[in-house]
Order: sequence, then C-alpha cells, then structure tokens
Amino acid sequence: MSLTGYDFIKRLESYCPPFLAEKGDPVGLHIGSLNRPIKRVMMTLDVRPEVVKEAIEKDVDLIVAKHPPIFRPIKRLVTDDFQTKMYADLLKNDIAVYAAHTNMDIVNPGLNDWFLDMLEIKSFDFITKTHSFDYKKLVVYVPRSHSQLLRDALAKIGVGQIGENYEACSFTQTGIGRFKPINNAKPYIGEKEIIEEVEEDRIEFVFSELIEKEVMTILHQIHPYEEPAFDIFTLDNLKQEFGIGRIGKLNEPMELMDFVKKVKQTFHLDGLRLVTDTKNKTIQTVAICGGSGEKFYKDAIKKQADVYITGDVYYHTAHDMIEDKLTVIDPGHYIEEVCKVKFVEMFNQWKAENGWDVSFIISETNTNPFEFI
Ligand SMILES: [Zn+2]
Repeated sequence: MSLTGYDFIKRLESYCPPFLAEKGDPVGLHIGSLNRPIKRVMMTLDVRPEVVKEAIEKDVDLIVAKHPPIFRPIKRLVTDDFQTKMYADLLKNDIAVYAAHTNMDIVNPGLNDWFLDMLEIKSFDFITKTHSFDYKKLVVYVPRSHSQLLRDALAKIGVGQIGENYEACSFTQTGIGRFKPINNAKPYIGEKEIIEEVEEDRIEFVFSELIEKEVMTILHQIHPYEEPAFDIFTLDNLKQEFGIGRIGKLNEPMELMDFVKKVKQTFHLDGLRLVTDTKNKTIQTVAICGGSGEKFYKDAIKKQADVYITGDVYYHTAHDMIEDKLTVIDPGHYIEEVCKVKFVEMFNQWKAENGWDVSFIISETNTNPFEFI
C-alpha cells in the first residue's frame, strides 16, 4: 500500500503529538509538503548541509528530525548563506522536513525512557511537569443488548484505562429506563405517546479528555437510541500528567565512578564531563534529560536524584550544581542520536502493521560538532 506523507505523520503524531512539545517549540512540518506519496523516509538528529546532501543522494522524500531546522525565524532566503541554502536545496529536491523535538522527550515512553533502559534503569517518574489533562467520567444508560458492544468499542480507544496496569475498567448496574417518544421521534424501542420501560445498564467509565471527541463518536455509533442518555463529569481526583526528563533507580547502589564508566560505555563516549563535590559517593537514583536539560536540575534535586545526566551544562551553572551538592554527568548533546535507531524501529513496526510500501533509513552522517582530542 502506497503511503502519503500526511498519513505517515498522522500515525507519528498519534504516538508523539505536537501538543506535548514545550511552549514555543516549533515542532511539526518545517519544509515542503506532506500532501504526496512518500517512498523513502530518513531519520536524523540534526538537519545539516551534509545531511541534506545525504538525503538528496539517497532519494529521500521526507526527513524526520529531532532538532527543528528552522528554530529561529529567518528574515531572508538567500542561497549564499549555508543555512538558507540548505532550505532552498531541500525545496529544490522536493524533500519535506518534519520535526518532533521536545514532544519526543515528553511523550511516554520517549527518548529519556530509552536512555534509562540502556542504562538498565526502569523509569518511574518525570523530572518537571509540563502538561496536565483532566480525566472525565462517562455515565451512559444503554439497553442491555448493547452493553458489551459499547464496553468493547470504548475499551479499544483507551476508555477505562487507569494507571499503567489496568485497562477496560468500567462499572455496570442494571435498572429500568423510562421514556415517552413524542413529536417526530423514531424510537429504536417503543411507540409514540406511550411510556416505554426498558431494562438498561448504567455503565460508568473514566477517560482522558484527550480522547473525548473519539468517545463521543463511538458512543453515538454504538448506542442504538436516537437520543442516547449520558452524563460527563470532570474528575477532581485524577489527572493525566506529562513531564520532561525521567527518574529511575538502579537495582543496587553503585559507586559514582563505576556509574560514570557505565554511562561512558553505554553511550560509546570518548569522554564526558563530571560535575560533583566529591567522587567518593554511592548513587542509586538517577535523573536524565537528554539534550540541554540544565534548567531542570533543581527539580532533579527535589525528586531526590543522586545524579543527573544532561548535556550542554554551562560553566556557571556547574558551579551552582556543586554548591547544591548535585552530581551531574554531562555526556554531551549528541547522545540523543539514539532516537534515530529507536524511531526507525517504530516506523518499521507501523509499516508491518499497515502494509506500507515505504522504506525507512537512518542518516549515517555524524552531526556531532565536538571531538575529544
Ligand atoms: Zn536536543
């Protein structure tokens, strides 16, 4: 089955929605059009001139990038400047570029969960809350003949999911529903001007406000009545929260310097920067925010992290971290290249599920600007 850029991105955004990006983060389509068939998609961390050259050589239709290529607004589109020439080359070669940036860090599971997996740590919390959505309760009255159909259809779209370990949760109570069809009613059960009594189930479900539109569509599709009776309440005791960065615990406490070695090996690093008031300590709770996460370091302390892994730590912030007695490992920003492999694995899974005729490739260009000498 051929695939359009639009359908591919629709699938990608159902996993990693743009609304999960940090405020002001320019995620989404940056260059070109999705409104055409795509045959080859390339995943990259950065869009650099060498990456564009690779995409042209490999006949790529769409680039998916972690870092948005147009991060600051451009004022001119002249081709004497390397950055704007790159945009022109992409347009000339009909290559679209789509960016999934901080939404990739926030979505669960996302990049920071994969980092912790690589370090054999199971994440249990985020570092800084970024989004909070309401949970709602749907109470619907349905003839018993349709109860199971409704429960099954709603469970399929995630209604009744509570926490990570329970899905398809609902409560059902049987009773008598009464109604009198009047005026132009065409009732599924009963006759006009006569009060009808029907054995009905009252079913209660919880669902995230994020899927309310789909819930309403399914409810009206499955419920046989012209005017289904239902109520929706916003819940005070349950929220759907998302956050950036992750925290997890090593199975056993570890000497800091052994853990530093482990980070170096796991991410295949020639070197890293360590910020600590002492090297002689044992650690167990690890926080991580790939890329530049220094602005979240105080939240890592609040969540009792023994060590915080993040890139691009600024000299004076490192002084503050030492004063605050937080040990920080700066492995550089480039460890984020892990997203290339992880995303292409996911793309191939969607390809198998949907029978798409498309190939997904990982950019082989090294875009790390730093070298250790
Ligand atoms: Zn980054």
